[in-house]
Amino acid sequence: DIRLSRRVNAVRPSPTLAVTARAQQLRRAGKDIVSLGAGEPDFDTPEYIKEAAIAAIHRGFTKYTAVGGTPELKAAIIGKFAHDNHLSYHPDEILVSVGGKQSFFNLCQALLDAGDEVIIPVPYWVSYPDIVLLAEARPVIIDTDASQRFKISPEQLEEAITPSTRLLVINSPSNPSGVAYSRPELEALGEVLRRHPHVLIASDDMYEKIRFYEEDFVNIANACPDLTPRCIIMNGVSKAYAMTGWRIGYCAGPKALITAMNTVQSQSTSNPTSIAQVAAQAALEGGDSAIHEMVHAFKRRHQYVYDRLQALPGVAAMPSDGTFYSFPGFREVMAAKGLRDDLALAEALLEAGVAVVPGSAFGTPGHIRLSFATSDKNLEMALDRISAFINA
Ligand code: PLP
Repeated sequence: DIRLSRRVNAVRPSPTLAVTARAQQLRRAGKDIVSLGAGEPDFDTPEYIKEAAIAAIHRGFTKYTAVGGTPELKAAIIGKFAHDNHLSYHPDEILVSVGGKQSFFNLCQALLDAGDEVIIPVPYWVSYPDIVLLAEARPVIIDTDASQRFKISPEQLEEAITPSTRLLVINSPSNPSGVAYSRPELEALGEVLRRHPHVLIASDDMYEKIRFYEEDFVNIANACPDLTPRCIIMNGVSKAYAMTGWRIGYCAGPKALITAMNTVQSQSTSNPTSIAQVAAQAALEGGDSAIHEMVHAFKRRHQYVYDRLQALPGVAAMPSDGTFYSFPGFREVMAAKGLRDDLALAEALLEAGVAVVPGSAFGTPGHIRLSFATSDKNLEMALDRISAFINA
């Protein structure tokens, strides 16, 4: 037997991928399954972005680049932060990585020691706690529920902070809840954070572009400009431009931290793929007209899913502010069906022909995550099946 490290034994493989695998297994066995499990847009990467990458291959841009990203891509990222977020950065405050996931991985490796604490509100993106554990630090989970629209209160934050707290993670709009913090809510959290200058803030803005409301996007650095030197702003092209497979994420933060994260990256992956960097640059420089159609579709589908869920007995539907997820409560359904937990519920829904992700994967049992990054026809079929399951 091979003895594995304590580090790796402390983490679990991604539960969202486990659902996909189970759905595939049933499909191979001939069962008709509609998947609402997707964590990526069902749209194709826009054509001009692909063309830029193809041209990069043809001109031989196929070698190592600077570890933390090409100067051209960094310039495009700085332009994006200035234009979209009113934040101003120098190139040595920017790091380009192999997806947003590597940005957070680098951050934890560069920042955390054993015994350090990272505050993670539920429901959380599945990778945060495990990436913290891989850095041998401790995730400190703040519980929330639908009555507070899955957003933490200033009192909860105050209570969670200890002398060992190094980082607070804010993901807005959130995967999986779909909710976004308002400016006043972020200002109120900022008031707490001002009292604790030893705490840094990671703002994961991955779903910034996918919003269903008209107001401008705000993150904690916008709401509390004085906290900007303590913020790491994480973003990427994966969700915004339907580019999950290209693996480009980026972040901005204090120079000393970005330099240390760059060092971690230099001893793991080195630079992100040269060609993908050119594609990401084209995406960021191309404006957002190509993604309007996609965001419009997500908004329309969200309304459809929400309306259908709301009509179902025992389902606690909640409107999302953005993303391509809905996160309804199913406790009453579970009780009525005698299902012991949301894993059993997800399994029962699979039997009924619909793949979803159980809420406990995100730290919130009793809920399920439905992704509407799939066709209208699939959504209709899935909701018909969920409805038949509930009414059976
Ligand atoms: N942050 C959040 C909240 C996400 O949902 C995801 C992807 O699921 C990521 C970061 C990572 O994205 P990437 O595919 O760029 O690694």
